[in-house]
Amino acid sequence: MQKPSSVSRRQLFLSLGRVAPAVPFLGVAMQGLAQTAAKPAAKPAAPATPAASPAASCNLAPANDPVATGLKYVADASKAPDRPAKMGVEGKAQNCANCQLYTKVTEDAGKCVMIVSGCVTAKGWCNGWVKKA
Ligand code: SF4
Repeated sequence: MQKPSSVSRRQLFLSLGRVAPAVPFLGVAMQGLAQTAAKPAAKPAAPATPAASPAASCNLAPANDPVATGLKYVADASKAPDRPAKMGVEGKAQNCANCQLYTKVTEDAGKCVMIVSGCVTAKGWCNGWVKKA
């Protein structure tokens, strides 16, 4: 005759044996649920600002940027009086603002495809100038 307590102990161990492999997954699932419940509702994405927004900022590329110096970039095109004519445009008419590689960010500065360490000035110029299409 079996003792009632040993049967229930065996059943308990058998039950634990079936449930035990699921315990780690259960813990992860519960943790995920807890994190989801604790998170505040996601804020809606901020609307995209226009490229030339007055609030936009544009840190200028450092003066020692190797690409800028290699291209003889100047922040003020008038400091490069010997700009050669290119693509039918006189040198003195060339500046970053009318270069194909320039994207306006603020009124007086923008991003350049060539000089990526920071912005260039709209009135700047370099040897890489390309006529805007
Ligand atoms: Fe300015 Fe164009 Fe030279 Fe860039 S490539 S620095 S935008 S002139």
